[in-house]
Parts: sequence; C-alpha cells; structure tokens
Amino acid sequence: MVNYSAHIEELKSEILDRNLVSITTDGNGIIIDASKGFEILSGYTRNELLGVNHQIIRHPDTPKEMFANLWDTITKGKSWCGEIKNQSKCGKVYWSKICIEPLIGNNSILGYLGIYTNITEQKELLRQASMDSLTGIYNRSKFNLLLCHEVEEAYRSKNTFTVIFIDIDHFKIINDRYGHLEGDRVLIEFSALTRDALRKSDLFCRWGGEEFIIVLSKADLTIGYTIAEKLRNLVQNHDFGLTEPVTLSIGISQYHPSKSIDETIKDADRAMYKAKNQGRNQTVLAYTNDGEED
Ligand code: GH3
Ligand code: MG
Ligand code: MG
Repeated sequence: MVNYSAHIEELKSEILDRNLVSITTDGNGIIIDASKGFEILSGYTRNELLGVNHQIIRHPDTPKEMFANLWDTITKGKSWCGEIKNQSKCGKVYWSKICIEPLIGNNSILGYLGIYTNITEQKELLRQASMDSLTGIYNRSKFNLLLCHEVEEAYRSKNTFTVIFIDIDHFKIINDRYGHLEGDRVLIEFSALTRDALRKSDLFCRWGGEEFIIVLSKADLTIGYTIAEKLRNLVQNHDFGLTEPVTLSIGISQYHPSKSIDETIKDADRAMYKAKNQGRNQTVLAYTNDGEED
C-alpha cells in the first residue's frame, strides 16, 4: 500500500521551502542553511550561499548604522525587524522586510534565523504615489505629509522654517514657442537644478503646473530670502537651450505657531503674486521688516 501521508508531508515541506525566503546563520552571521525561496529571490544557489556571510545580498546603499543596530539587537538575544534594500547575484535591486530571530540554546546564541518578505512592488508603488511623475520630485500629497512632520519638529525644537513659493514666469509662452515637450523638459531641468542646490533636509514639491514649493527647515525669512535669490539667479543664468532666460517670481513666508501652515502657504502665494504684479523675476517677502503683513 502507498504511504500517502509520508508523501504529502514531503510535498508540503518542498512547497514551504520554495515559498519561504529564509536563511539560518551561525553566531557570526555565516550562512549554514538557505531555503529554496531565498535561492530564487537572491539568484544564488544553495552551494554559493553556504559558508559565506549573510551580507552577500547587502546593497551598497544600506547604511552601516542599520547593520550596527541590527547586530546590537540580535546579539542581545532580541529579535530585529526592518526593511532592507538588497541586491541579487545579477545586481537586481529588491527590498525585503526582514525579521531576524536569535536561536538560543544552553543560555547562549547558537545562530540566527532570518525570514524575508519581498516588498519590492509595495516600495515601488509607494515611491510612485509620493513623486510627481514628470519631475521626480515630491507631489503634493507626500509634501503635505512631510510638512506635518516639519511642523511637529518646529514645535518640538522651538525652531522655525520658511516657505518659498515659486512660479515660472510666462511659461505659457515657452510652451507656445517651443512646444509642450520642450516645456516639459524645462520643468524637468528646472527641478533637477533646484533639487541639487538645496539641502537634503529641505522639502521640494511640485505644487501644480509650473508652480513649486520649497520648505527650508530651520531657516528664517532672512536665510529664506538669500536662498530664494540664489535659486532665482541660478535659474536665470542656466542655459535651458532657449533664446530667452527662464525667470521666476518668488514669494516667501515664515512659519509661526500662531498661524496655520495653510495660512503660511497662502502668505507665500500672495507674496508671489505681488512679485508678478511688480514686474516678475523677483523675490517678495510676505511680511515687511516691522512684522506687519504685506
Ligand atoms: P505668469 O508669468 O503669469 O505665471 O504666466 P504663465 O504663462 O507662466 O502662467 P499661466 O498660468 O498663464 O500658464 C501656465 C502654463 O503652464 C500653462 C500650462 O499649459 C503650462 N503647464 C502646466 N503644467 C505643464 C506641464 O506639465 N507641462 C508643460 N509643458 N506645460 C505645463
Ligand atoms: Mg502659475
Ligand atoms: Mg507662471
């Protein structure tokens, strides 16, 4: 008689091995076992994995501090979970949610079990939902989310920040003269130029059309004005390949806890309109020196 239950058990463990992405390492992080799922995702064969350090799939972008924190946690016998950027054997980038459990016996750590979930698609969808598809900078919904953190941070650390509202001058003429695709190229080039000129901690977002917002963290109106003028000059002197320079009208306002963030943005927008009415290609502050609203 055929032993079906033994056969089913064998099939089950094969299926689990194929679908589970996991490795077991010794106490020094050297791989001593890898599931079929791990082989498939990483592109390495079991033989290539056994005996090598688990960092074989580490992507160079992964910060050292993350691994330091991971090791610090698991060597204390605690489990660690996080999201990590990995690289397969052929160089393909993939993201994993990883949970590492220490394997404890006789009061010592015998090794570690790492269980991975492939979250690459999730990460890509999140990235797409945060970015403006033309320029690659933040879209409004991501910006609003990050702005909330900025407001909380300003409140917590008693710091301030400045909002810069930018509108490209006569952009319709650029489209009419050179075509919509060239207009798109100018928006892309303008965004890259501006992004590169800002600090990593500053927020830069496409507000809509040819309008952009920058939030300069830990900066008051004076710093904001200097940076806005630097950007305006940078753009005006940049060769966009058009016969005329690209110029900007810019409005600036400073956040104060007594005002809502929406009011702060409206103030910067109003100052930008004042810059338009005064002849364009200039920066206007939302408040005069004596603190009165403009
Ligand atoms: P102003 O100096 O008063 O701001 O004039 P303007 O021409 O820049 O402003 P207006 O609001 O009249 O026109 C904005 C133009 O920006 C019209 C619109 O077609 C164009 N635009 C908006 N989004 C895009 C885009 O994604 N690509 C391109 N090529 N053009 C865009
Ligand atoms: Mg506009
Ligand atoms: Mg415009």
